[in-house]
Amino acid sequence: MSYDVAIIGSGLGGLIAGAKLAKEGRKILIVEQHTSIGGFATCFTQNNFTIDVGFHSMDGLYIQDPKIKVFEDLDVYFNLEFVALPSEYYRYVNNRFDFSIPHTTYEAIEVLTENFPKEKKGIVEFFRIIEDIFSSEWKNKTAGEMLDSLIKSNDLKLALIGTIQYYGDDPYTLSALSFGAALARNYKGGNHYIKGGSVKLTDYLANYIKEHEGKILLGNEVTKILINPDKDAAEGIMYRSTSDDDAEPIKVIAKNVIVNAPLPVAAKLLSSESENAVKLQEMMNHLKVGHSAVNIYFGFDTTLDKLGHKNYLTVVNHKSVYGLKDIYENNNSKHSQKNFIFVDYGQTDTGMAPFGKSTGVISIVDYMHNWENLSNEDYYTKKKEIEGIFIDKLEMLIPGVKDHIEYISVATPKTMERYTRNPKGSIIGFTRNPLQVRKYPLISPIKNLYFASAWSVPGGGFTSIIDASWRVACSILKKRR
Ligand SMILES: Cc1cc2nc3c(=O)[nH]c(=O)nc-3n(C[C@H](O)[C@H](O)[C@H](O)COP(=O)(O)OP(=O)(O)OC[C@H]3O[C@@H](n4cnc5c(N)ncnc54)[C@H](O)[C@@H]3O)c2cc1C
Repeated sequence: MSYDVAIIGSGLGGLIAGAKLAKEGRKILIVEQHTSIGGFATCFTQNNFTIDVGFHSMDGLYIQDPKIKVFEDLDVYFNLEFVALPSEYYRYVNNRFDFSIPHTTYEAIEVLTENFPKEKKGIVEFFRIIEDIFSSEWKNKTAGEMLDSLIKSNDLKLALIGTIQYYGDDPYTLSALSFGAALARNYKGGNHYIKGGSVKLTDYLANYIKEHEGKILLGNEVTKILINPDKDAAEGIMYRSTSDDDAEPIKVIAKNVIVNAPLPVAAKLLSSESENAVKLQEMMNHLKVGHSAVNIYFGFDTTLDKLGHKNYLTVVNHKSVYGLKDIYENNNSKHSQKNFIFVDYGQTDTGMAPFGKSTGVISIVDYMHNWENLSNEDYYTKKKEIEGIFIDKLEMLIPGVKDHIEYISVATPKTMERYTRNPKGSIIGFTRNPLQVRKYPLISPIKNLYFASAWSVPGGGFTSIIDASWRVACSILKKRR
């Protein structure tokens, strides 16, 4: 079998690159180890609730948003519905403050100044810097250092960095560039949800690929990336069925190979015959892997506005968190003390639950080391314990909600790793510290081998991956056939 491009993994990065290449007439093959497509960008259905595994919202969709050109090119706008989320970005709650930060920069400055009148100058400066973060003096510093220099109030700093778990687990290691760029996109374009969930986007892309003669193989894992040592160039892959232990590996010749699978996984698929493969493997060993999460998924027998709840995204910080330096410690503390984010998908028409019902998710920073080496019994007991802790926390946030939980399940770092093979269940790829972010985008030193993954781009999230994978496809298209 021979192809123009073999793609390892059907996450968002693999599907976007595959769709563009198939559209332009390239013969492509996507090999996915799981039995369903999408990686983290997928949903599962339980008790008639559609639960998004990871997707909370998508920033942007403003005029210069890089996703726009990709969605236009692949006809996404004609086929999917994007629901604009309510006008606030997030509600910030601890035992000292409870306010909502609006989506536009102007209104956000107004609300933050109302709550912290002495900090007006720093607030304005903060928003000015993040809008121009790429040329700012802070781009090689941490988000914590930037906030410390602009703002005096610890509570204001905590509010401004409220959604940190999407980017990092410690303000003093999180790159100001990564954080600022993502935040600026949220304040510029607001947030959107894909009606019906992220699975609508990945299903659409998979169908698009098939309509353009591309092939997607599910339940097959790539076991080797073939390198021609004389040319130091990728020339194909080996894959085999994940359901049949006796299945023989199958060889595929391809002019180009795109890695969508996590890069540390891909590095192990390279043989050590090539000098550049060894270099790449060493590089992977030296990069630090980012944090994971525990997600608690809910199906409610009502919409939560009936209980007086009004917010799509709520950041809840524990009372023991007084300043930025406490965040990392909090992430490593016991679950009863941990900060969390709650998403109430029923606040808008996301189409995830039967009429009159709704879904939600609590996300908490966590790490694989808290979950590995447990017996099955201890693992399930721990999950049950955490479920109970966070039901009580949700009840404090939304009194009465406890009686309306129709479905609940807990995903741990082990779950994340099992389904997507992301090492340590990382939800962000490599840690986005200033040193590592400077190395992005990671480009393969091996000819004809390309990266299109959350592990190769500085920003992560849908925007960065969609943009980067489309560019990868375009650079392959520019090569002589
Ligand atoms: C809990 C959570 C919440 C999130 N919330 C948001 C959000 O609100 N907004 C946002 O923009 N982003 C969010 N993200 C980030 C976003 O979902 C991910 O960054 C993105 O989906 C990653 O896409 P990817 O294509 O790089 O990789 P992945 O989704 O990891 O896909 C990689 C694919 O490769 C496959 N694979 C691995 N090894 C092999 C192999 N050997 N052979 C074949 N296939 C293989 C895997 O099975 C997987 O399907 C969230 C992520 C998580 C986990």
